[in-house]
Amino acid sequence: MSLRRLNTLYKAVILDHYQKPRHCHKLTDPTSKVDIYNPSCGDVLHIELKTEDEKIKEIGFTGEGCAISMASASMMCEKVEGFNFSEAMDLHDVFQEMLIAEEEPEQSDLEEKLGEASLLVGVRQFPARVKCATLAWQALAQALTKEGES
Ligand code: ZN
Repeated sequence: MSLRRLNTLYKAVILDHYQKPRHCHKLTDPTSKVDIYNPSCGDVLHIELKTEDEKIKEIGFTGEGCAISMASASMMCEKVEGFNFSEAMDLHDVFQEMLIAEEEPEQSDLEEKLGEASLLVGVRQFPARVKCATLAWQALAQALTKEGES
C-alpha cells in the first residue's frame, strides 16, 4: 500500500470510528471495569468487560477525548470481543510494538492481526499521540490482569 493511500485511509477510518464509535456503551453486568486517563492529552476512558472461562464475552467503553483515543478504543473493542485472554494480550503486544518499535513493522502482517486497528500505525509519525492510541489497549491489559487475579 502506498503511503498516500495509507494516510487517506487512516484519516477516513479514524474519523468514522470517532463519529460512530462501536461498542460505546456500558455493560449490564460487567465482571471488571477500568478507568484510565492520559494526562498528556486529557483523554479519559472507562472500559468494561464481561468475561467467562478466560474469554471476553462482551466489551464496552465510554469516555471523552481526542479522535485518536476514541477511534482506537472503538477499534480495539471491535477486534477483541470473543477473544480469550491470551489472544487479547498477544494483540495488545502487537499493537504496542507497532507504535513503539524502532523499526516499522510490515503493514501486511499488522493488517492480518489487527484489522482496521493496524491503520493506527500512522500515529508513529506523531510521537506525542502514541499514548492516545495505546490508552484503550492499556486499559484492556489492566482489566485482563484484574480478571486473571480474581
Ligand atoms: Zn488524545
